[in-house]
This record gives sequence, structure tokens and C-alpha cells, in this order.
Amino acid sequence: MAERDPECPFCGIVAGEIPGEVLREGPQTIAVRDINPQAPTHVLVLSRSHFPDAASAAAAGTGILDELVSEAHEVAKAEGVSDGYRLVLNTGLRGGQTVFHLHGHVLGGRGMEWPPG
Ligand code: 5GP
Ligand code: ZN
Repeated sequence: MAERDPECPFCGIVAGEIPGEVLREGPQTIAVRDINPQAPTHVLVLSRSHFPDAASAAAAGTGILDELVSEAHEVAKAEGVSDGYRLVLNTGLRGGQTVFHLHGHVLGGRGMEWPPG
């Protein structure tokens, strides 16, 4: 189990100390709407524990990434976008990661370009 990081905004959301529109709660994850949406559906599936990225979460061996992917699909179904959405794990500064607490972005409701910018 990763320790809480007192400086981390997503640890604050998980603890209920920073407001967030929580859509789903799983044993190891919670899903909240992004505060700066980049698509009609833009939801973050956060780990409850503080892992800086997906690789460190995978190394913990708790199955959290399976839950993240399953919860992302449940979000997409609830939002009516399960026929086509993007699940993104930005990793590292050059990968566009700005919050170093595991989260998957569920983006849908508009066309998606490939490759992304
Ligand atoms: P990253 O760039 O790390 O992959 O994504 C971080 C995401 O978290 C961004 O899309 C940003 O809008 C979102 N975000 C940052 N702070 C907060 C917050 O306090 N609440 C919520 N709901 N989203 C946040
Ligand atoms: Zn955190």
C-alpha cells in the first residue's frame, strides 16, 4: 500500500478534502470528472493509493490496473460512449503527465484523432 502524499491533489480528492464530482467508487479506484474537460466526457479514474504512475502501480501486484480499465469501461457505458472512447495514461513530464498520482483519462463524445498531438 502506497503512503498518502500530503502535497498530492488526487490524494486530497480520495480523502474527501478536495471537492470532486465522484461518479463511481471501486475497491481500489474512484472516478471523478476532470475539472478542465477536453471532451464532452472527460473522467479520471484515480487510484485510492498514491502511486506516481502506472508502472509503479503494476509492480505492486494488486490488480489495480485491471480495476482501472474495468471502471473506465463502466464510466464509458454510463456516459453513453462505450462504442468509442479513449483511455489515456499520460506518463512522465514529456508524456504530458502533470499530476504524479495514477489516473486514467476516459475521453469520449467527440471524434478522436490519431496520432494525438
Ligand atoms: P495529467 O496531465 O497528469 O495526465 O492529467 C491531470 C488531469 O487532472 C488534468 O486533466 C487536470 O485537468 C486534472 N486535474 C488537476 N487537478 C484537478 C483537481 O483538483 N480536480 C479534478 N477533478 N481534476 C483535476
Ligand atoms: Zn496522490
